Order: sequence, then structure tokens, then C-alpha cells
Amino acid sequence: MKESRSAYRESTTPRALDIAVIGGGPAGCATAIALARRGFAVGMLEHSCYDTPRVGETLAPECRVPLAALDCLQRFENDGHLPSNGIASVWGEERLYENDFVFNPYGHGWHLDRCRFDAMLAHCAADAGAKVFAGTTARRCDAVSDGFEIEAERRRDDVLRLRSHLVVDATGRGSSPLPGAQRRVVYDKLVGLVGLVNAPSSQGDSRTLLEAVSEGWWYSAPLPGGKRVVAFMTDGDRLKGRRHDLSLLFMARLSDAPHTRERIGTLPEVESLRLVAASSYRQTSMHGERWLKVGDAACAYDPLSSAGMLRALQSGLDAATAIEGWFGGDTAALARYAARLEQRFSAYLGTRAFYYGREMRWPTSPFWQRRH
Ligand SMILES: Cc1cc2nc3c(=O)[nH]c(=O)nc-3n(C[C@H](O)[C@H](O)[C@H](O)COP(=O)(O)OP(=O)(O)OC[C@H]3O[C@@H](n4cnc5c(N)ncnc54)[C@H](O)[C@@H]3O)c2cc1C
Repeated sequence: MKESRSAYRESTTPRALDIAVIGGGPAGCATAIALARRGFAVGMLEHSCYDTPRVGETLAPECRVPLAALDCLQRFENDGHLPSNGIASVWGEERLYENDFVFNPYGHGWHLDRCRFDAMLAHCAADAGAKVFAGTTARRCDAVSDGFEIEAERRRDDVLRLRSHLVVDATGRGSSPLPGAQRRVVYDKLVGLVGLVNAPSSQGDSRTLLEAVSEGWWYSAPLPGGKRVVAFMTDGDRLKGRRHDLSLLFMARLSDAPHTRERIGTLPEVESLRLVAASSYRQTSMHGERWLKVGDAACAYDPLSSAGMLRALQSGLDAATAIEGWFGGDTAALARYAARLEQRFSAYLGTRAFYYGREMRWPTSPFWQRRH
């Protein structure tokens, strides 16, 4: 992260807010920026200081639209992320299929330094007037007569207490601090074994590579700073008893993926290897009387779609419009917002089925059977 933590506008005194946004990923930041620009008193609590690795590195060309709407596009374009010129895939057949963004009306996409991207959005939120509390984890969120009381733990070991009329849950795949049962409809058991390898970005193909294999699929993409992200996506239950040595598992599975191997070498030195959840799901409730969910906290998309960040940014913008309506007396605004998210998610489930349906080379593999 380029800018120091002290650049955030922070305070240790309890404060009253119109809206508390819990989580400072793309969805939380987009919500905070859009609300602060509308003149609301917004506080955004973010667990990290944007200094630990994050997954989700490819930004779709269509993200130009929400970034421009948030007035962050120029700042983002000057921030040194790598242009992504398309996707090469080995999917449904052994031949490499190339889909260049040259035909995309929005132009190229990007390979991100994800920490830098999320930190840039948090700085935009602070510049728009939101109070950004980095290194702050919301632990409790208690309903009171006119909203919520939030208790958060800070890295400096002190406790921050906030009151807000409305809470936006932007905690991603993590557990929600909102009160009451938070239930998810989960559509699969997808996990990702994600690591970094050395590969100067000037070397080789700058496109994202997708490669289907019998037990799942691989993706790899260059990142700013000379690394390449490499991930093996499979079902978590297929790894049972094999999680004790992730690098052994990674190397064993790599032998099934000749195109990925060609890019990263047969015996690459893999750094920061970790197992992350990647299932598709939606919350059974995406809003309540005084709260709503945005981004992955509401519904999560298969990384195959490369749509998670686009949906997160869009949901933040839509949430801000709904919240403005709600404060203006439109009591149905939050429900309409949630209905729109549900609609988008239903459409996504159809697209997801279509793409997995195009890979029929392993009819006896449980991973593919479950998706056909
Ligand atoms: C393996 C994998 C690969 C992916 N690849 C892509 C890709 O190439 N392109 C793409 O568009 N999408 C991709 N995605 C999806 C994308 O990363 C997510 O959709 C996106 O990050 C969602 O944004 P968000 O703001 O909703 O959640 P997040 O980015 O997860 O942000 C949530 C934030 O909330 C904070 N938080 C959590 N709990 C608390 C708390 N109690 N208090 C304070 N803060 C809290 C976290 O620290 C985090 O910063 C991928 C996902 C996975 C799993």
C-alpha cells in the first residue's frame, strides 16, 4: 500500500452516524463513497489495513462504468495496474481458445494489485467525506430503537463504539456481525488453492488463462510487480484428508494442466499458497428494516465469471440509491434493492450452468457431474 495508515481520517471518540458500513472491500467502499458524496454521515469499518494478500485480481473491462460513476476511474487508471488484453481458455476441448478484449466495447480489463486497488477505493471514500476506520473489526451490532449500536475492536487494542441509523453489511464471505440468523443458500463447494509464482509481467502472455482438468479448473494471470497468480479450483470435499500438504497437492494437480505448466514451469516455486472458499451463494435475506447487504455479503459468484468485483461495485452504487430513498421516506426502497440483486443472481445461475455445461470431457468426474 502506497499511502500510510495515518492518511485515514480516524477518531477514537464515540460518534453518531447516519450509516455504518462494515467492511471496506470494493462493495463497502463503493457504498461509502456514493453515500458520502450525497452528504450522509458515513463511517466505514475495515478489519485490515490493506496490507495482507487478497484474492480476486482480474478486473473486467465493464468496471469502467461503476468506477467512473464513483469518480475514481482516473485515479485508478494512474495507479499502475496491468492491462489485461483478454482470456485464453482450454475449456470443452484441448484446443486453446482466445477471446481478446479488442472486441469488448469497454476496452481492456486489468490485472490488479488487489491491496492497492482496495486501499485506493478506501482513500476515495475518505476524500468523499466518509470516516474510514482501518484496522477495525466490528464485533457486535445491537439493534436499538433508532438503529444500531456497533462495537468494534481496533488493532491498537482499544474499542470503538458507534451509533448509526442504518447498517450496511459489506463483510464479504466472512461472518456477519448483524444480529439474528443469517442464512445462505449455497450452490456448490468450490474452493481455490491460490498461490503466487515469479513471472515478470513483461514475459509471456498477459491474458488470463483458464484450463479445465478432470478435478476442476485452473486460472493464472500476471500481476503488477512481476508475480503471477495461479489457482486450482476444485470442490472442498474432494480435498478431504489431503489438506495437510497444500504444496504437494498443488504440484500433483498441476501435472494435469499442460497449458498452465507451460506458463509457470513444471516445478515452480509457489509463494503464499492458501486455500480460500469460492462457492456461489445468496443470502436468504439481503435486507432488514434498517440494514442491507452488499457485494459478497449478499451473494457470491464463481470466480469463473470474473464478475465478483463488478457486482460488488454495482451493488454499492445501487445500495446508496436505495438508502437515499429510504432516508427520504421511501419505505420500499431497501426491498426493491434486494429484489434487483436476486434477479441478477438468478440470471448469473443460468450463465454459470451454461459455462460448466460446455465442458463434457470428464462425464464420470464428480466435480463436473455436480455441475451438469
Ligand atoms: C479464488 C477467487 C478468485 C476470484 N477472482 C476474481 C476475479 O478475477 N475478478 C473478480 O471480479 N472477482 C473475483 N473474485 C471475487 C471477488 O474477489 C469478490 O467478489 C469481491 O472481492 C467482493 O467484494 P466485497 O467488497 O463484497 O467483499 P471483500 O472484497 O471480501 O471485502 C470484504 C471486506 O470486509 C472486511 N471485513 C470482514 N469482516 C469484517 C468485520 N467484522 N469488521 C470490519 N471489516 C470486516 C474484510 O477485511 C474485507 O476487506 C474471486 C474470488 C475468489 C474466492
